[in-house]
Amino acid sequence: MRGFIEIDSERCKGCGLCVNVCPVKAITFSKKYNTKGYHFAEYRGEGCIACGFCYLSCPDVCITVFREVQKKTGVQV
Ligand code: SF4
Ligand code: SF4
Repeated sequence: MRGFIEIDSERCKGCGLCVNVCPVKAITFSKKYNTKGYHFAEYRGEGCIACGFCYLSCPDVCITVFREVQKKTGVQV
C-alpha cells in the first residue's frame, strides 16, 4: 500500500508523536515555525505506506492520510 499525508501545520503543536510512530520515518520536523511558534511536523514527500499510525497518534487531528488505489487492468476474453 502506498499513500501520502497532509499535515495542517497551523494546528500542529510539534509534540512529535507522529514523527516517532511512523514506521518508515516519513515525517520530520520543519525548520520553519507556524504562527503559534512551533516547529510543525511535515511529510518528507515520499515513503508513506498509508498505515494510518500518524493519524491515530495525533492528539490534535492534524493529519489526513491518503491511500493510493490501484486499478486492476486485464484483458477480457
Ligand atoms: S500513514 Fe503511516 S507511513 Fe504514512 S506518514 Fe503516517 S505513520 Fe508514516
Ligand atoms: S502528532 Fe499532531 S500535533 Fe504532534 S507533531 Fe504530529 S501533527 Fe503535530
